[in-house]
Amino acid sequence: MKCPRCVQKIHPGASSCPHCGFAMEHADEVFGTKDIKLKKFSDVAGVFRMKDREPMRKVLEDFETKFPQLFVSIYLSAFEDLNSLRQYGFWMLNRTNYVDVDSQRPNATGILILVDVNAKSASITYGYALMPYLNESSTFEALSAGHPMFLQGDYRGALKAVIQKLESLLIKGWRRVSRDPETVLAAGGQKLKDAGPDQGEIRVAGTIGEVEG
Ligand SMILES: [Zn+2]
Repeated sequence: MKCPRCVQKIHPGASSCPHCGFAMEHADEVFGTKDIKLKKFSDVAGVFRMKDREPMRKVLEDFETKFPQLFVSIYLSAFEDLNSLRQYGFWMLNRTNYVDVDSQRPNATGILILVDVNAKSASITYGYALMPYLNESSTFEALSAGHPMFLQGDYRGALKAVIQKLESLLIKGWRRVSRDPETVLAAGGQKLKDAGPDQGEIRVAGTIGEVEG
């Protein structure tokens, strides 16, 4: 995985970045130490029209039906001084209590799509349990699928495209792991027993692709 601050490679299990010292405490200093409560679809920016909200939620529900141990969350906002969506995504996935996600799906099994409607940029942060299945290039590929629509301000179309791409990438990732689990997991710094969702492992972290508009 990459450090959300200096973007250099760090070991997935590391509690702080060996290059710049970044740790969850630093994100807390910037964004706050209190946990927050959110629904998995939050349009704080108010860019979704009423009639588009329900279909968007449906896409998230469908994802959960297809992947019974995972969930996707979307957060759209107009960030003022935020120079790093990566750090915010990292912080948010660690700090958010998703009120409409069942307890079978801890945040370590979550994928957060953060959209900055000011900068027209988006990023994907995913939980620890997804590290064997996703990586920097696959999440970049997923964001790229929505990029043209993000630029046109078609957020619903863009996010739907991103999630569809994520679904196919997760299936590919899962097949890769099934073929050779030990090698794939070792590359991600995990052992076989760590592969499943793990309640104790909520320090999430893998930040990932970022698409600038
Ligand atoms: Zn760093």
